[in-house]
Amino acid sequence: MKQIVSWLTALVLLLSCLCCPVSAIEVGSMRYEIDPNTGEKRYTAIQIETAWGQWEWIPVYDDSGQVKWSYVCNEDGDYEWVPAEEAPTREEVALQLQARKTAVEKRFGIVIVEETPERPLDMQLCQIIHLEKAIETIPAALYEKARTALTARGKTLTILLGREDDPSVSWTTAGQYSPYDIMIRLYDVTPEVFAHEYAHLLHMTLLNSMYSAAEIEARWTALNQGAAYGGAFLKDIFITSYASTAFEEDFADSVSYLLARPEMIQELSLCRPDAPVIRKLQYARQLLSDAFGVPLSQFPDITLSQPSSWARDGVSDYQMLFPSGVFTSLGTPFHPGYQSGTTRQDFAAAAYELAETVWAQRQDSWEELYPQYPMDQMHQHNPFTDVTSRISAREAIVKLFLMGVVTGKSADSFDPEGAITRQEAAVMLYRLCQALELPLLQGESPEIRDSAQCAVWALESVRAMCSSGIMTGVGDSRFAPTGTYSNEQSLLTMVRIYRLFSETV
Ligand SMILES: [Zn+2]
Repeated sequence: MKQIVSWLTALVLLLSCLCCPVSAIEVGSMRYEIDPNTGEKRYTAIQIETAWGQWEWIPVYDDSGQVKWSYVCNEDGDYEWVPAEEAPTREEVALQLQARKTAVEKRFGIVIVEETPERPLDMQLCQIIHLEKAIETIPAALYEKARTALTARGKTLTILLGREDDPSVSWTTAGQYSPYDIMIRLYDVTPEVFAHEYAHLLHMTLLNSMYSAAEIEARWTALNQGAAYGGAFLKDIFITSYASTAFEEDFADSVSYLLARPEMIQELSLCRPDAPVIRKLQYARQLLSDAFGVPLSQFPDITLSQPSSWARDGVSDYQMLFPSGVFTSLGTPFHPGYQSGTTRQDFAAAAYELAETVWAQRQDSWEELYPQYPMDQMHQHNPFTDVTSRISAREAIVKLFLMGVVTGKSADSFDPEGAITRQEAAVMLYRLCQALELPLLQGESPEIRDSAQCAVWALESVRAMCSSGIMTGVGDSRFAPTGTYSNEQSLLTMVRIYRLFSETV
């Protein structure tokens, strides 16, 4: 069972009671009233974008009380406002709902039961579409094997759909699994909630009858390394605080992360490959694979990336010098690994971190060195239209641009997600050294046999980076200027430049 608090619902209820008979509530781009008798929402006005990019409130009803705009569920399961004359009729929605429900039941071998059939048909239709999307996130091979196993036991999964915004409760349940009647009850129809309840089904109904339930629990709990269930939330032991409440919930939450939100595992910033939560995920992955005969490749890979042997010392140095650096959390599941090519934005962010570290040692800062570019006006100086995603990287890129370290791929594009080439890295580093006034070692200029493949704008930088030992060739006196630069190579480079700086202090 998974519970969420709907404070908003409680607040809305409270407000509507205090200001009887009805009160207008504004949430996002909609205004609505709550009928004090039925608790139903009645939309009164919506905000739409005009051709001039302005947002304008328009009434849902005209003066005579006729509906002008209808809130409908579209093919993708999203609600949208359409002019009333374009909205499907109630009968059309009813047909759509029936057809979709039958199709989803057939596709997944389930029975769908609507808990409150009197609620708006659009809402029911959208929920069916959300359910279909939620089930799709379970690896198909696993779902089919589990379905076969249920059928062999003469069972069918029932999905009971409840209303998502039930105003009669302030504490609401997102979902629930009942092993007695093989029924998943969903209020919040999202992939995460479905995967959690589905994990209970896999565990309680199937795995526990295929293996010894006590053995699964004992093995799982042993991986906690002594941490008990019941409130303690230790990020590297329990995947969420809810998971720490009980063994069954820990199992269900972990499996739901594995199946429906592998990208979230990265956000847990699990740096230790031996962390209990990682080992529990690996165990769950293996258990599901063995039990249902589904190849491991069907599940997200949670093996951790390890640095190459030649980079290990450099990685430790980097983590010490840049405790919250771009490359410090490499090796966590689903994070690009040590051997992956560095993106242009990661390289820029790491280069700027290096600059900040050098400035800090010199008791300098951006504010003192570049007072003409105050932080709150930084967006005005951003020439790149494609640098919008990660705030930390965007700030680094704009600052490096203002320092003359980066110029972008064109006047208005930086290609942040593109892999940086070795010659681009050389140019960025050479200009960074110049901007930081770091004296480069003038070693013997090494022979570069493939220098003809170097771009004209990069040749000087490539020579300078090679002769100073900041970058090295790829062997056989070649530089491979258009080859990629891996994350472990990038971080070693940052360490080398930092060392160069500290030797000159
Ligand atoms: Zn649960």
